[in-house]
Order: sequence, then structure tokens, then C-alpha cells
Amino acid sequence: MTDPQNTKPLASISLDLDNQWSYMKTHGDPGWEDFPSYLDIFIPHVLEVLGRLNLKITFFIVGQDAALDKNRDSLKLLTENGHEVGNHSLNHEPWLHLYSADEIKREITKAEEHIFRATCEKPVGFRGPGFSWSPALLEMLSQNGYLYDASTLPTFLGPIARIYYFWTSNFTEEEKNKRKELFGSFTDGMRSVKPYQWQLNSQTTLLEIPVTTIPIIKTPFHLSYLLYLSRFSATLMSLYLKTAITMCRITRTGPSFLLHPLDLIGGDQVPDLAFFPGMDVDGQRKLELFEKVLRELSKCYTLVKMKDHAESILKRKKIRTRIPGHKTIKSHQNHATHTSP
Ligand SMILES: [Zn+2]
Repeated sequence: MTDPQNTKPLASISLDLDNQWSYMKTHGDPGWEDFPSYLDIFIPHVLEVLGRLNLKITFFIVGQDAALDKNRDSLKLLTENGHEVGNHSLNHEPWLHLYSADEIKREITKAEEHIFRATCEKPVGFRGPGFSWSPALLEMLSQNGYLYDASTLPTFLGPIARIYYFWTSNFTEEEKNKRKELFGSFTDGMRSVKPYQWQLNSQTTLLEIPVTTIPIIKTPFHLSYLLYLSRFSATLMSLYLKTAITMCRITRTGPSFLLHPLDLIGGDQVPDLAFFPGMDVDGQRKLELFEKVLRELSKCYTLVKMKDHAESILKRKKIRTRIPGHKTIKSHQNHATHTSP
């Protein structure tokens, strides 16, 4: 999967390391409070797959997992094998946009401490759970010396994803109300797919690398979506992926490609989550599809960790700048001239 001549543009691969308890919690199932974990099964499994493909990626870790002794040996394997670890918040609550500055500070710094203790590496990248973020969050990341944020998903489909999520879960009306902004609003589709710099109130900047959606049409193509399409037809999945890659190439967008644990593991390997959507597909079939997708991406891109992708973007002479409060794209210049929201 490497490109020894380094002639291809970069694309980054990341995996949100959502654990068994967070899927149970998201689904509204009891028992998640004991933080049941499959990291001891999943991490050796994914490391074997990535090793075979000679691929180094970024794992966004939830601080609560890194805080528990039972997960530390597995998490340490990630950095020992040369992968990057990013911060995926402390408690994996997908409404960081509702948090005060103090609550955000705790979510970031506590997670960071636990991740460092478990992996001996301080994260320089952040992804909010459920793609949640706020201007205060970006300020805190900048103050804490982060290199990039990766929390945005520029798509018009957020509200549709939310409907599907409610439909497959056991929430009361009150719980649904708390989650009413989950996965974003229609206007998130107006955000840029290409990386850019946030211009913050503190007069600093922070690089944003959005989870790449298909340029212009803004529909997601991360692995969970591709696997969903493959249920109807493997040809349809290939066609959709090729369209996504073509659109990225035309618009000169180096993709940031997102994975989740359940994309790479089947209900046969984690029986406790066999009820979850997509878990009826066995692990072997998922791996075949994953390798097919990565082969397709690596025809056009050198696949790297997000940190390497970020450093390469920051070396460019021109990076567009945006102000966090603006929902729409206002500036196409190198330096934004707008006032803050
Ligand atoms: Zn997550």
C-alpha cells in the first residue's frame, strides 16, 4: 500500500475506536455502565490486517477506555506498531457542542492524560464523537497545542442519519430530544470538504481535516456506508467508491477516509454485538471488502496517518481560512476578513 516513489498525493486513514460499551450506550442498552470492552479482541485483529497491508493509520481513542487497566495492554500495541493515536473525547458523548468551556477542557485534557498513560504518546489530533464540535472546542484544542481537528462531516445527510439512528435504537422522547442535533443539520452540507484553517478568536489558527464526503454532492463514503451499499450489490459499492475517488481527483481533494471497528469485525467475532446493524455480515467478508476498498484508494493515493497528512497540508503556501461560527463558506481567500460570529 506504500508508494516508494512518493509520486501520488496523500490520503489519510483513521479509525474511531468506539468500544463495545459505547455502541451499547448509543443503542440505549443496559450494562454499558461497566464499560464492557472488545479491545483485547479487536486491536490484535486490526493490527494483523493493517500489518499485512503495510499500512499505518490514526486511531481516535476514547479517554474512558484508556483510563481502565484492562484496556491498556491492547492500546499500547497501537503505538508500538507505529500507528498514531488521536483524542476521541473522554466520555464519547456526542453533544460536545452543548458543553461549557470548562466541560470541554475536562473532556480534552483528561482524555489526553489517559491516552498518554496508556500509549506513551500525546495526541495531536482530535475527533468529536458523533461529529460534534464547537468554536470553544477548537479554541481549547489550539491552546493545548493540537495540530489538527477532524470532527466535521460536510454532508446534507445528517438529519437522515439521525432518523435512521432513532429508528434502530430504544430511546425515550426525552432522550431523543437531547440528541436532536446529533449528526448535524442540513447546513453542515455547506461546509468545505477540503482541509482548511479555522481562524480563532484567540488570533491563532487550527487545521481542520474534514471526514471526506464526495465533493460537490456531499454524500459520505466512509467504510460503513460502502459496506451498507455492498449489501445490495458489490458492483454498486465499487461504482460509488470509484465515483468518490474520481470526484476527489477532479477537485484535488486528498481524502480523509474513516473506519469504525464494526466495519472490520463480524457478529461471529463479537457475539455480544451481533444484534447491531451490519453485524450479520461475517468478519471474513468485511475484510475482503475493506481490502478491496483500500486497494482502490491506493491506486491514486499514498495512504498515511492523519498527522502526516496534516503536516503535509500545513506546508502548502495557501490554505483557505474560515471562521467557526459561519455555517456557509464565505471566504475563498487565504486570510479571512470576516468578523467573528
Ligand atoms: Zn466515536
